[in-house]
Formats: sequence, C-alpha cells, structure tokens
Amino acid sequence: MTDCLFCRIVAGELPATVVLDTEHLFAFRDISPQAPTHVIIVPKAHYANAVELAQAAPALTGELIAAAGDVAKQDGIDSYRLVFNTGADAGQTVFHAHLHVIGGKPLGPSGLDLH
Ligand code: AMP
Ligand code: ZN
Repeated sequence: MTDCLFCRIVAGELPATVVLDTEHLFAFRDISPQAPTHVIIVPKAHYANAVELAQAAPALTGELIAAAGDVAKQDGIDSYRLVFNTGADAGQTVFHAHLHVIGGKPLGPSGLDLH
C-alpha cells in the first residue's frame, strides 16, 4: 500500500467527490475549497510534481491541462485559475503532481502571495 494521499484516492482507498475519471486522469473536489469550483486533477500514475510529469510524459501533461476545460464546462464556468504548486516553499503539500482548477467567483488580480 502506498502512503501517497492522491495515489490512495485514485485507488479508491480514500473517499473523494469524483468529478472526472478517465483512462489516465482522475479529478475530485478539493477537501478545503478556496472558491466555489476547486477541483484537483491528477494523473493516475504517480509523478512527484508537474515538472517531473511534463519531463516524463508531455502528452499526458497536455491531457491533464485539457481536462481542466472539461471540469470547467461541467461546473458551468468559463473563467478559472490553473495552479501547479511545485515544491514545499511554493505551497505544495501533496507530492503527487496535481493541477488546481479554481473559479466560480472573482479571484482578484493574481491570487499569488509573493511576500
Ligand atoms: P497543494 O497544496 O498544491 O499540494 O494541494 C494539495 C491540495 O489537496 C490542498 O488544496 C488540499 O486541500 C487538498 N487535499 C488534501 N487532502 C485532500 C483529500 N483527502 N481530498 C481532497 N483534497 C485534499
Ligand atoms: Zn501518488
């Protein structure tokens, strides 16, 4: 059994509100949503972060980003922020590559806390 949280969600070992389930991708609602739409999209295969994913599997990375459009469409939004936190200092807490899809309310100029 893996101790990776998102591998365990993909495997169905932990509960999640599933938004998308395809051959290579899994998407579910963030447990601590920052906006009305806050969905996490992950590759089913484990990569530590988005850059490792992109270096190892560029086509899958494209699929992952394209899936954000499907998630947005499903939630009826056409404006959203896509975030890949990469590394602990950048706020990454789960070391399985994932894309945040955040929207459904005005998000402000950037949402980035660079202080
Ligand atoms: P990050 O900080 O970029 O690594 O994002 C990890 C995200 O996973 C955070 O926004 C958490 O709220 C979310 N998260 C943590 N545990 C769960 C869970 N069991 N189900 C859904 N989302 C989760
Ligand atoms: Zn994993």
